[in-house]
Amino acid sequence: MKAWARSYVTGFHAADPKLISVHSLVAGLRADEEIDGERAFRITNGYESLLEIFRRELNAARVKFELTTVAESIRWERQHVQVIARNPNGPISFSAPRALITLPLGVLQAGPGERGNVQFVPDLPPHKREALRKLVMGKVVRVVLRFRERFWEHMMVSQCAEPKMLSEMSFLFSHEDWFPTWWTTMPDKLPIITAWAPFHCAERLSGCDEAYVVDKAVGTLSRLLKTEKSKLKDLLEESYFHDWQSDPFSRGAYSYVMVGGEGAQQELARPVANMLFFAGEATDYSGYHGTVHGAIASGQRAAKQIMNTK
Ligand SMILES: Cc1cc2nc3c(=O)[nH]c(=O)nc-3n(C[C@H](O)[C@H](O)[C@H](O)COP(=O)(O)OP(=O)(O)OC[C@H]3O[C@@H](n4cnc5c(N)ncnc54)[C@H](O)[C@@H]3O)c2cc1C
Repeated sequence: MKAWARSYVTGFHAADPKLISVHSLVAGLRADEEIDGERAFRITNGYESLLEIFRRELNAARVKFELTTVAESIRWERQHVQVIARNPNGPISFSAPRALITLPLGVLQAGPGERGNVQFVPDLPPHKREALRKLVMGKVVRVVLRFRERFWEHMMVSQCAEPKMLSEMSFLFSHEDWFPTWWTTMPDKLPIITAWAPFHCAERLSGCDEAYVVDKAVGTLSRLLKTEKSKLKDLLEESYFHDWQSDPFSRGAYSYVMVGGEGAQQELARPVANMLFFAGEATDYSGYHGTVHGAIASGQRAAKQIMNTK
């Protein structure tokens, strides 16, 4: 039971079992029960279709996008916020009476001189900084492997009480060192398998080059399915990998609450001086932090806060 709880915390929440708040875990489980959160589903054409919906709505409202633009500092004083940024053409700045900050937790936590740091001038108030210290960015490395064929279709797994065909395999949980958790695209029978390395496994893989990470994934799969690594490499058509920890624009995968950190998400979500408003998954305090729906709901909550500002 202890081992199961540990692998749930590290695997699902990408969290350090020594750090995570049990209160927030329970709140998350209760929230999941309300929305049938255990049910796995995916958007057929990927998350881009969700972005497309937002893009259409924003275009209709004549909202201007500034893509490939990196915010470097945020100055806020006397009901005036200025975001100083940089795009491929050079420096650029934007001003408004209020700003909605949706930077990931890892970016908000980055100190001066650290990659991805966005400077607040004046600095965020101490209670906001304290809230940032009580939240943690979980770590994940995910590798998607696309093969020429579903080579596992006719394989049997013999470790179970009853031998099972792998053709219906959705998830594969193991005690493997590098990539303990795997899943397929079931019910769609595609030749794709995803490898998931949370927490400690991700810590070891972060910063390594893609070829090394993919090699570790293929090696693990070869052991799990008792298939020659060279055969898997021959069958492998493409691999997809992103190192969220090393990415200066995310600095981790998704957030969790530290022991004793109850209330930190509410504090992070609280507006500052009616000028700075905060959204993003780490500001969700209804149990849906670390999710896309939590992030969207936090944006709606922040938009209402801004509209209610006199
Ligand atoms: C591997 C992995 C698997 C996941 N699986 C699931 C899942 O199955 N289901 C689920 O619901 N959730 C999942 N999540 C979590 C989900 O992706 C996040 O909770 C969600 O995307 C958070 O949205 P957000 O808007 O808060 O942050 P983000 O999506 O991180 O958006 C923040 C944006 O800020 C930008 N940014 C950062 N710094 C700057 C800067 N200085 N200037 C300008 N822009 C900047 C970033 O580029 C990014 O576009 C997963 C996350 C990971 C990493």
